[in-house]
Amino acid sequence: KKENVLISACFMGAGCRYDGKSIHLDRLDELKEKYNLIPICPELLGGLGTPRSPAEKVGDKVINKEGQDVTAYFQRGAEKALKIAKMYDCKYAILKEKSPSCGIGKIYDGTFSGTLVEGNGITAELLMKNGISVIGESQIGKLLNCK
Ligand code: SF4
Repeated sequence: KKENVLISACFMGAGCRYDGKSIHLDRLDELKEKYNLIPICPELLGGLGTPRSPAEKVGDKVINKEGQDVTAYFQRGAEKALKIAKMYDCKYAILKEKSPSCGIGKIYDGTFSGTLVEGNGITAELLMKNGISVIGESQIGKLLNCK
């Protein structure tokens, strides 16, 4: 039986990004062959729609481009993503880098200028705190080569 791995839904062709687009992921076919991928979009799970205003983390809060505090949506989405990860016993999550939900290591700085700072998205952080290994798309080679 294939191991379940959580994945950002925008990599699986779901047009769930703020601009309604999805994102091409190299080696998706290899991942599908090896793992049972469980797609989640924390921002939609949290109650936001598509398209939506882009948002960035500012300290512990998430603020959208209109200046609205959307932190509660992001937190709700992170909790639901964690619940799904536990339900499917996922040890790994492949998440979209730089996103205020899914990003790991580096995220945008809250000025909507494309500037990156050290930090994790709200969902990435909650998953890691609960022992799930979060892997950004530039690191999927590690997951594909490890077994
Ligand atoms: Fe993709 Fe995550 Fe953003 Fe949803 S919240 S669109 S899964 S990066």
